[in-house]
Amino acid sequence: MSVLTDPQIAAMNVEFESLAPADSIRATAHLFGDGAALSTSFGADSMGLIHMATRIKPDMRVIFIDTGWHFPETLEFMQAMTARFKLNLQVFHPQISHEHFVKQHGYLYQNDPDRCCAINKVEPMERAIQGVDCWISGVRRSQASTRVATPNIERRPSGIVKVYPIVRWSTKQIYDYMQAQDLPHHPLWDKGYISIGCAPCTQRIGAGEDERAGRWRGQSKIECGLHTKI
Ligand code: SF4
Repeated sequence: MSVLTDPQIAAMNVEFESLAPADSIRATAHLFGDGAALSTSFGADSMGLIHMATRIKPDMRVIFIDTGWHFPETLEFMQAMTARFKLNLQVFHPQISHEHFVKQHGYLYQNDPDRCCAINKVEPMERAIQGVDCWISGVRRSQASTRVATPNIERRPSGIVKVYPIVRWSTKQIYDYMQAQDLPHHPLWDKGYISIGCAPCTQRIGAGEDERAGRWRGQSKIECGLHTKI
């Protein structure tokens, strides 16, 4: 259960707008303690937020959804970062195995990606946040048109409180932070992948394109549902 009332969340939303990301994480960790958890896709810039959060709370729960469709590089990166930074990682999977899913649904991402995401991403995340009071997310306003109005903190329809510590940061700011802290990035970043999700739905982006332009390219879909449906 949230320890915050809706008026308190509204006041914190105003307060966090002028706080540095680390300070909003510190306030969140102080309020929620072990009830806070951070989700990550182990994408290109993910180590920035993970590093910030675990410097403040080393045993912060880190949630990763293994959809079954990730690049092998993502899974290797996840394992390497977990070992190196001693992350308190919790991995959640879809309810059916990848092999079973393909046998039953085929390549669902081609003709019904919303359903594919619902089964492989959204449902496992709903399970992952059972018992979590505060979900810390790396969503940033500059990532996509669907994200420009993201607040600093909100209560989601599911009831969970969600905090977005780096919501005001640009891509450059997160990479500058990673460089300053000498943090590793996803190996596919060097090959032109900026927003990295499941392999079949992720492509490189060209110069001047939005960072999420390589996700579900050629389709109107921009969001998987993790940050819109839960
Ligand atoms: S991103 Fe693509 S492969 Fe991954 S769950 Fe969604 S539709 Fe399926």
